[in-house]
Amino acid sequence: MKRRDLLKGAAVAVAGTASSKFIHADEEKASESGQRRALGKIALEEHFLIPEFVDYFSETYPNINPEIRKFGTSVLQDLGNKRLEIMDQNGIEFVVLSISGPGVQVEKDAAVAKRRAKAANDFLAAEIQKRPKRYGGFAHLAMQDPAEAAAELERCVGELGFQGAMINGQTNGEYLDLDKYSIFWERVAALGAPIYLHPANPVDRPAVYEGHSELWGPVCSWAFETATHALRLVFAGVFERYPKATLILGHMGETLPLNLWRFDSRWLVCNRGSRTLAQPPSFYIKRNIAITTSGVCSDISLRCALDAMGNNNVMFSVDYPFEKTDLAAQFIETARVSETERSQVASGNAKRILRLT
Ligand code: MN
Repeated sequence: MKRRDLLKGAAVAVAGTASSKFIHADEEKASESGQRRALGKIALEEHFLIPEFVDYFSETYPNINPEIRKFGTSVLQDLGNKRLEIMDQNGIEFVVLSISGPGVQVEKDAAVAKRRAKAANDFLAAEIQKRPKRYGGFAHLAMQDPAEAAAELERCVGELGFQGAMINGQTNGEYLDLDKYSIFWERVAALGAPIYLHPANPVDRPAVYEGHSELWGPVCSWAFETATHALRLVFAGVFERYPKATLILGHMGETLPLNLWRFDSRWLVCNRGSRTLAQPPSFYIKRNIAITTSGVCSDISLRCALDAMGNNNVMFSVDYPFEKTDLAAQFIETARVSETERSQVASGNAKRILRLT
């Protein structure tokens, strides 16, 4: 009924002045935008920057081309009409905003890291208050101090209304499976606030990347660094100890969905030292890790992700402004999946996992 009214309106608007060809084109356009709106897309790897964080962002310059470096002082700092216009054009109802990495994850001075993370969170909270129906937030956390990171997460979720936090990889060479982070995971589980583990560089540069700057970054190294970080959490038993903790990975799961069978198979014969797990690794990956489609617009990858991770665990995202919003939106609108899966990926799973309703 609604669609028919919309089409009728479009036809009336051009009646008398346009040929039937134009009316037909208008009908198609109206129908298409109606479908886009109906999906009510939610995206959760959508970045912004504040001037104080441009220096941290410059750490990624060796990973990206010079054109993209300019984002730090332009599109990333816009939280107004331009960003909203792109969301509207592509039927994205709600985005969870996060600082573009690496942020304070590369800050050497813990006191500075804590102060700046807190300031970034306060800034984001004020922006969300201006547009609470369009913007949510992931907290930026100084992992240099696990207890204070836990407290800041609690403040951001409890007082500022954020959905969880985004952490940009290792912090000064330390990964989140270390014992010192137990206090943090305990709070994550208690709050039910998901942690989005976002790609970043390791502290060293392994020899395998030497002479291949194209592999150092989004083509290759970021995915393996992030996947390995997530596997450290799985094999260290973090999700066994905190069954209610949720980790989110972008980029269609940073290669993990393809390899679940092999993780289980080779875990049985690898040199596991003193490590034990009550369940196969894939059990924790499927139970405790959710993924987003950010930066991967491939039917083949999406089918694999849905089948491997479960259709409850895959969520739409763009990775704005580093990926094209129209391409990502069109991808989920037309992906070769069932309508139930499309709806779950576009918004349903995010509503549940981020507790948006
Ligand atoms: Mn990103």
